[in-house]
Amino acid sequence: MSTIGAAPGTRQPLAYLHEQLEELKAKGLYFRLRVLESEQKPVASFDGQEVINLSSNNYLGLTTHRALRRAALEATRRWGVGAGAVRTIAGTMKIHMELEEQIARFKNTEACVVFQSGFTANAGTVAAILGKDDLIISDELNHASIIDGCRLSKATIKVFKHRDLNDCERVCQETANWPGRKLLITDGVFSMEGDIAPLPQLCDLAEKHNCIMMVDDAHASGVLGRSGRGTVDHLGCHGRVDIQVGTLSKAIGAMGGYVCGSRELIEWLYHRGRPFLFSTSHPPSVAASCQAAFGLLDSPEGEKLIKKLWANTKFFKRRLKELGFSTGASETPITPIHVGEAAKAFEFSRRLFDAGLYAPAVGYPTVPEGKARLRAIVTATHKRAELERAAEILAEVGRSLGII
Ligand SMILES: *Cc1c(COP(=O)(O)O)cnc(C)c1O
Repeated sequence: MSTIGAAPGTRQPLAYLHEQLEELKAKGLYFRLRVLESEQKPVASFDGQEVINLSSNNYLGLTTHRALRRAALEATRRWGVGAGAVRTIAGTMKIHMELEEQIARFKNTEACVVFQSGFTANAGTVAAILGKDDLIISDELNHASIIDGCRLSKATIKVFKHRDLNDCERVCQETANWPGRKLLITDGVFSMEGDIAPLPQLCDLAEKHNCIMMVDDAHASGVLGRSGRGTVDHLGCHGRVDIQVGTLSKAIGAMGGYVCGSRELIEWLYHRGRPFLFSTSHPPSVAASCQAAFGLLDSPEGEKLIKKLWANTKFFKRRLKELGFSTGASETPITPIHVGEAAKAFEFSRRLFDAGLYAPAVGYPTVPEGKARLRAIVTATHKRAELERAAEILAEVGRSLGII
């Protein structure tokens, strides 16, 4: 007799999830996953429909780049498909060490450790360096992985208003006599707003108040600074940021996260970074793809791609502004299109998709309630005509919904 499904009278301890899902549906917040049926490219096929794709973090088009594919295939042939162990046992391959050295050089830091993702890099690092007697001073819009890391550390968390230096200083002053260690932490580029942290001034505050300074440059790596070295480079803060986190999953095109800093920081994370200790390391193909990506960033081709990314970004933002859309404080390829009510944002996104454009809606809990929006991301590989067409579709559907 089958035990699958609920026989009458059977205990159903997860039944409340049904009600919670029904509640999402009633609020217009329920979604199904869109399934990508082609490569991750500027024009892509999702759920059987070809659309202009403004949904990925594939800033430079590296997910499908020839050099990265070749590196991944070659590494698979030479080393196999998996690492077979966690880094601290037998899963540290030569290629992992080489990648870390390459990233440390790129970022102009002493050392680097690679984690399985940007998420685990943030969460694992904050939890490893702080404990319950310590204090974290955190921008209110910092990424979920920072928030989770802060919670895991059991330190006291004080939040300052988004990019608000006066408010950050207020928190610093109120906690001036904190007996434990202090960490000041910010995204370099904020993932939902597309704005840039006031890093030099935050470094001033960290120095004045004796805080460890940590920046999550997930959306800045490969995008801002010389050859995509990130906000620390872009804003001239070399030597002032103790911990730089980045991702290998966005502009770098593959998967993973990394932490750059002093040799001792990295050694400590080898010993206490829980995702590093308890979860298997990357397949060789991933490490090899990333090596190829960093090589590319530092080449004339990389320079050209980053230039194109910014030219496309400026073009698209200008078009949206001309059409009357509100893109907030964004200064980067992340282009929020503000709607307000979540149900309306989801409706906007659905209708755009039917018209041939994929720009996903984000609502609570990714952004605060009442601040729902579309989140469009321009890449280097979009053609002008594709961005022009995307703006036309946005205008048509936006007018029909009274958004512009
Ligand atoms: C995407 C993102 C991460 C997580 O990176 P993954 O490599 O996808 O896990 C961390 N921080 C910020 C700010 C991000 O936008």
